[in-house]
Amino acid sequence: MWFWICAWRGGNALNCVPKLRHRSELNLNLYTNVLSTCWMSDMQQNELTLSGTVVWGDDFEPKEGYVVIENGKIKEIGEEKIEAAIEGIIIPSFINAHTHIGDSVAKEPDFMPVEKLVGPGGFKHRILAETPYEVLVSSMRATIEDMIATGTQLFADFREGGLLGVRALKEALRLSGGNERLRVKILGRPAAGTEDESGIDELFESVDGIGMSSVADYPQEELKLLAVEAKRKGKMFALHAGERNAEDVKGAIELEPDFIVHLIEASRQDFKKMHDKKIAAVVCIRSNLVTGLGLPPLPRMLESGLTVGAGTDNVMLNSPNPFSEMEFISKLFQLDEREVLAMCTLNSATILREEQSIGTIEEGKKANVVVIRTDTPNMRNVRNPIKGVVRRATRNDIAAVIYEGKVVKF
Ligand SMILES: [Zn+2]
Repeated sequence: MWFWICAWRGGNALNCVPKLRHRSELNLNLYTNVLSTCWMSDMQQNELTLSGTVVWGDDFEPKEGYVVIENGKIKEIGEEKIEAAIEGIIIPSFINAHTHIGDSVAKEPDFMPVEKLVGPGGFKHRILAETPYEVLVSSMRATIEDMIATGTQLFADFREGGLLGVRALKEALRLSGGNERLRVKILGRPAAGTEDESGIDELFESVDGIGMSSVADYPQEELKLLAVEAKRKGKMFALHAGERNAEDVKGAIELEPDFIVHLIEASRQDFKKMHDKKIAAVVCIRSNLVTGLGLPPLPRMLESGLTVGAGTDNVMLNSPNPFSEMEFISKLFQLDEREVLAMCTLNSATILREEQSIGTIEEGKKANVVVIRTDTPNMRNVRNPIKGVVRRATRNDIAAVIYEGKVVKF
């Protein structure tokens, strides 16, 4: 019956569902089935309307209104109150600026010094070495599914293992639906001592950039060559620094990368130099807590004018869940909630050179948004929508994840 109603109404999914105000009265499964069925016909029409609190533009200003999506893009944003099938707090989908999903198979290690965790012969490398390739790929695929389900539209992965590592990640992405539901920026690195000049060229062709560990782990000259080559080819270059101590920060800044990850031990002067050279910062707060290495001086980074993005780092250490990351950042540093949301959306888009098309809700940008319910026990009575989303929302509060105009998760 629902299908016929949909067809009769012209196939727009938002017309298929009983008035939204009665949504909580519906059995959720029925609701999902109805909307999925309707979406089949809706896809031909390629139009969807959302309503509620729209977290709008670069300033993340909450406004009551609606968003019309057409052909994968945001066509119109208005301030009128209208009814729609999907209603709630409408925020840009998340961008995770730093992950290592290659270790998705090695979860929940004991707390131990970082050298024993990720150093040569350590926990991570032992498990990766003894795990069959197919299992590594399927565990990465599961992580990608998890990221889609928690509203991530783009993540930047530091991929170890040279070309083979890059291929494994691409295979995991293909198995989880390819670029239809999220995108990845792969920052690969040459496999230790195995890639000659033609191998490096092939690596560059298959990645979005280069992501290295620390200047302490390689001769500076080799890193310089990679950094210069990346720039010449229009690819990104990034690396970790200031995680264990301050000794690798200066060398990292000298390479003029696109961004530096961690910076727990960096000084105000380092941040000034980074700002002058237009080098961005990516912080991984929950990762820093697990490794016990301290926390970065995040307010000082922001005061220095740096563009600061956020990442969840190794899947081995943390789920790639942006809601958890936002809650930790917000409560540990007591920052303005818009600043925290920006770190997980617009700032990370800027760092990954994608801010023209994603990262905020604006007309003409890709329709990559997450709608957060306001009728769940957790979100009911939230008075400030952005504070509510940043400090307390969870994956259970998601009404829909929309990627390029298509609902990829209810
Ligand atoms: Zn990392």
